[in-house]
Amino acid sequence: MIIAVASGKGGTGKTTVSTNLALSIGKVQFLDCDVEEPNANIFLHAKLEEQEDVSVRIPEIDKEKCDYCGKCSEFCAYNALAVVPHNVLVFPELCHSCGGCELVCPRGAVRWNKRTIGVVEHGQAEGIDFYHGLLNVGEMQAVPVIKALKRKIDKNKHVIIDVPPGTSCPVIESITGSDYCILVTEPTPFGLHDLKLAVEVVKHLAIPFGVVINRDGIGDDKVVTFCQDQDIPILLKIPERKEIAHLYSKGIALAHESHEWHEMFALVFHRIQDEVST
Ligand code: SF4
Ligand code: SF4
Repeated sequence: MIIAVASGKGGTGKTTVSTNLALSIGKVQFLDCDVEEPNANIFLHAKLEEQEDVSVRIPEIDKEKCDYCGKCSEFCAYNALAVVPHNVLVFPELCHSCGGCELVCPRGAVRWNKRTIGVVEHGQAEGIDFYHGLLNVGEMQAVPVIKALKRKIDKNKHVIIDVPPGTSCPVIESITGSDYCILVTEPTPFGLHDLKLAVEVVKHLAIPFGVVINRDGIGDDKVVTFCQDQDIPILLKIPERKEIAHLYSKGIALAHESHEWHEMFALVFHRIQDEVST
């Protein structure tokens, strides 16, 4: 079973949920797809032993063949090419490696180069097969790194995916193919706003989902009312408590600190398992 843990915005406790869930289940695979700011390993403490570059292909123009007709730059929706007198400028950071420029070039002048945009690292932590991706500073395309991470999925294991915050392409890429999605939110008007957007995404992808409310006790009860009205299961409420914030700031997982939390996250997993199998 693949469980994605997502949230409409950053800082809602998504990583708290994903890492504690993994620690409570035990022998799982964990993919931290939040490649711009992966922080799951702060709590899992995996010893990273393997590293693999992630590359994308970028066009290079053969000046012997090119007649500067401009068809490639006209086609490129990402403005990654500009044809100027006697030159074609390539802006690698903007290129999405779609291959379209090669297809439209009438002179076969487009060749390809590789460009490294990030890295996938792998290690083990208490039986957890841990992977995270790191997008190089200044790079804008998280999706190729997420794809590289997802190629590591071992179908013989339960998989927990820590999804990037938001509702954009990296989120869709991370969630697609999951059996279940946990949406983590806070009981505030902002939390509700972002939760509604995230609900639209998972509904669109037809992935069953439930909600975890973090920092329960702050804000109001509108998230609970929304979930009840929409028939969305609330899987767990994590109360707003100083001790929890203190553990978080020290990189200590709740499931490590207390047997009670370990059990509660294990129950969340069993509930999801029941829901997915019925
Ligand atoms: S389409 Fe081909 S020939 Fe035309 S400018 Fe681009 S690379 Fe050059
Ligand atoms: S591969 Fe696609 S995105 Fe990149 S330069 Fe060519 S047309 Fe533009």
